[in-house]
Amino acid sequence: MTVAVLALQGAFAEHEEMLKKLGVEHFQIRQKCDLERPFDALILPGGESTVQGKLMRELDMFDTIQSQIKNGMPVLATCAGAILLAQQLSNDAATHLATLPAVVRRNAYGRQLGSFSVDEQIEGIGTFPMRFIRAPYIEKVLDDTKVLAKVDGNIVMVENKNQLAMSFHPELTSDTRIHEMFLKKI
Ligand code: GLN
Repeated sequence: MTVAVLALQGAFAEHEEMLKKLGVEHFQIRQKCDLERPFDALILPGGESTVQGKLMRELDMFDTIQSQIKNGMPVLATCAGAILLAQQLSNDAATHLATLPAVVRRNAYGRQLGSFSVDEQIEGIGTFPMRFIRAPYIEKVLDDTKVLAKVDGNIVMVENKNQLAMSFHPELTSDTRIHEMFLKKI
């Protein structure tokens, strides 16, 4: 099993550390030709969704990544990654891959007061240490997207078939349970 990590910008190295810890083979996607290597699952890291979306388009990776996800490639998206997946953004006219039936709000906790940690329940996992950094939340789920976790009434983790998206950063903790849950999708 091989996992590809989108490594254009943001916290991709931390996801690679997680995969290393779990003994999972992985490589970085930095340019279009990297997408030609075979892989079984994809990770979209946190960072700045606008920059990542722009680079994906400029480097001509956008269509390939989008169709891979549409064709069922398991994808784990954290923070900015979740913004890239959202079918709709409630406070931004732009959308990116738009494969996840959900409405996402960028910088939903404000830009300054955006960083906090909290322990909350995740369906199928239990209590998990969640770290939020200028995080989005999921304002609304659409179609058959399932809510897996909420913090203060706001949705922070969802699942839709092959897609697992969250507002927070499991890769910045030492807790590997979300990555393990994701790898079961392969
Ligand atoms: N605020 C960022 C964005 O809108 C996301 C923050 C993050 O990934 N930690 O893209």
